[in-house]
Amino acid sequence: MNNTLSSSSLVLASGNAGKIREFQALLPQYTLLTQNHFAVPDVAETGLTFVENALLKARNAARYAQLPALADDSGLVVHALNDAPGIYSARYAGQGADDAQNIDKLLHALEGVPTHDRHAYFFCVLVFLRHAEDPCPFIAQGRWDGVILTQAKGEFGFGYDPIFGVPSHHCSAAQLPPAIKNSLSHRAKALDQLKTLLTSNTALRV
Ligand code: IMP
Repeated sequence: MNNTLSSSSLVLASGNAGKIREFQALLPQYTLLTQNHFAVPDVAETGLTFVENALLKARNAARYAQLPALADDSGLVVHALNDAPGIYSARYAGQGADDAQNIDKLLHALEGVPTHDRHAYFFCVLVFLRHAEDPCPFIAQGRWDGVILTQAKGEFGFGYDPIFGVPSHHCSAAQLPPAIKNSLSHRAKALDQLKTLLTSNTALRV
């Protein structure tokens, strides 16, 4: 048995370093162990919605790690692009594409689109499973509205942050210090919702 496990251990079904940092900052009371810790193989994200993919990932991690699992699925939804890249955000410019390639493709797709038509939002679904066969998953979601900028700005964050304009702060998400992003983001909102669900639900204490 792994000696880092405790009653507050959770396996996080992600290997994305940016997300892990954000989740750990938002859930300081838990020991988050990534699925890499248990050599969990990636599962194919074959769903057509964020919630389907998050369920697939959580079940896979819970099964391999034999622990409660938390999975997220998230992405950027751009109205002018018929809601693309959506669930394909990580691989928008092709399988294995990096953040810069995804950003480039998105900026090209929106060339000539005026500011008032550049509305977009980040969306995050979180799924918590008590075990791999849990028939009653806890599901939370959060949304963060903004606008797609015409060029990348800022060094913080990850993914599409440099081109995601945050109107309330007159800057890109990548220009926000991490603590500020963590108070505004789609992931923070979904986590707030999940915390409420988990603490108000007696099923968890059985
Ligand atoms: P997932 O790992 O399948 O959830 O893919 C999420 C993808 O959406 C990431 O690889 C990023 O490209 C994008 N994304 C999700 N959340 C954020 C964020 O907070 N900032 C920037 N990009 C994000």
